[in-house]
Amino acid sequence: MIRPIRIYGDQVLHQRAQPVTAFDQELSDLVRDMFETMKSAPGVGLAAPQVGVALQVFVYDYPDDDDNPRRGVVINPTITIGPVSEEEPDEELHSEGCLSVPGERFSLQRADWAIIEGVDLEQKPIRIEAEGWFARIFQHEFDHLEGIIYVDKLPEDAKKEAFEVMAELGWNRPGRSWLPGTDHLED
Ligand code: ZN
Repeated sequence: MIRPIRIYGDQVLHQRAQPVTAFDQELSDLVRDMFETMKSAPGVGLAAPQVGVALQVFVYDYPDDDDNPRRGVVINPTITIGPVSEEEPDEELHSEGCLSVPGERFSLQRADWAIIEGVDLEQKPIRIEAEGWFARIFQHEFDHLEGIIYVDKLPEDAKKEAFEVMAELGWNRPGRSWLPGTDHLED
């Protein structure tokens, strides 16, 4: 089932998600729905708070350079990242988007590498070393579980612009969502 995606300003996006303790049917259903919602959006990553569930869960689907599929779920993750450049982000190289800020893109520096660790639905340990855009996805999704959306981390000028755009669209207030598979943003 495709679930509505919460838009920036909805409270669940701006709080720290809780660790998963019950690996039950409800969790399996959530993860199944998250894959379906991410695919429909379409997106390369989706965190549980984005569908209104304040749990430490995210899914990703991003092929490697040879187009081999890389997709999965990470539960209760921790992250280790490389250094983040303090240079101005480049619009072409560092442009990022988020399904909770739909249709917009802003540039942000991220670490070139990340190691994500956690467990899967069977509570088996996961450890993934990622570079480049794959590492960016993990940093972005991990931030969601901390209650941080990428626009919160933009350089000052870009952040101002992002919040002006969101205000014009009527975002940055509770209760907004959109449903992938439809063409319009839901009230
Ligand atoms: Zn996002």
